[in-house]
Amino acid sequence: MKLLVTGGAGYIGSVVALQLVEADHEVIVLDNLSKGHEAAVPEGVKLVRADLLDAGRLTEILADGYDGVLHFAALSLVGESVEQPGRYYRANLTGTLNLLEAMQSAEVPRLVFSSTAAVYGEPEETPIPEMAPTCPTSPYGGSKLAADHLIGFFARAHGLRATSLRYFNVAGASSSLGEDHEPETHLIPLVLGAALGERENVKIFGTDYPTPDGTPVRDYIHVEDLSRAHLLALDAADEANSGEHHVYNLGNGAGFSVREVIEEARRVTGCPIEAVEAPRRAGDPPTLVASSARIQDELGWVPEKPSLEAMISDAWDWMQRHPRGYEES
Ligand code: UDP
Repeated sequence: MKLLVTGGAGYIGSVVALQLVEADHEVIVLDNLSKGHEAAVPEGVKLVRADLLDAGRLTEILADGYDGVLHFAALSLVGESVEQPGRYYRANLTGTLNLLEAMQSAEVPRLVFSSTAAVYGEPEETPIPEMAPTCPTSPYGGSKLAADHLIGFFARAHGLRATSLRYFNVAGASSSLGEDHEPETHLIPLVLGAALGERENVKIFGTDYPTPDGTPVRDYIHVEDLSRAHLLALDAADEANSGEHHVYNLGNGAGFSVREVIEEARRVTGCPIEAVEAPRRAGDPPTLVASSARIQDELGWVPEKPSLEAMISDAWDWMQRHPRGYEES
């Protein structure tokens, strides 16, 4: 298939672009490079530098004809979104609307969207199933939920075959592609940065949550496992699915606290890693653990690297080979 990957120069989008190329698809990456890295775009993949807010340009790009779009381009920092809700809704909702309208006019039939566990807010039930109430606690989660709804309405109105994958906490690296955010806010790369000596310590944001050790619990999923789910969703989007919007949670179904992640990173790296207790971060729910039963049943998705150890050691391996991220590639 000929596929457009928005945000394909970013952490998750680049791993998916690589797996798509390996599966013999023709891949074009669309990225504004505000966060992404040109060096993360897999070899042989054309990079089109464009912004989703430029609706006219998007329409022109999609008019080339595509079999599907995988949509990763977004702003994704929970804390930042609390400070700048307008910017998040513009990028994540208006950007998705522009993309959907450009897809509609070019009659692109398939969409796989990167949604998030943040749509569930503070869930009543754990592990979280897809039918759990959605009540986001941050503008980031709110903007992604609004985009999910919009996609559902476009699917029904225009016969789109759409899938939203709601990611829990993505971690790890593939052999050539890893996590390089500026600023970095995610726990595992920050903990490993402390192990590398890039920073003095790692802060634990909140130790008084209603969890077993008082620190937030998250469900970590290996980026390669997450990526494979996109290919399964794409393969399942045949004509019989026209007008349908499928929603799947993606995690391992096991939760680890911030303290447990730091402890595992000490074991994997052999470095002491100093941890410092700090106040809570705005918008963080205490516990987010996925039920991925639906995608396992319906698409046959099975995680190959479910252990925290595998995720941390793959991320550690990549960071040691790229201590300054993509700057050195
Ligand atoms: N966290 C932390 N220290 C850090 C970064 C993150 O204690 O330096 C915590 C954060 O409060 C959250 C968990 O680690 O409870 C995972 O955060 P991350 O930003 O990696 O992912 P999120 O769950 O926000 O998507």
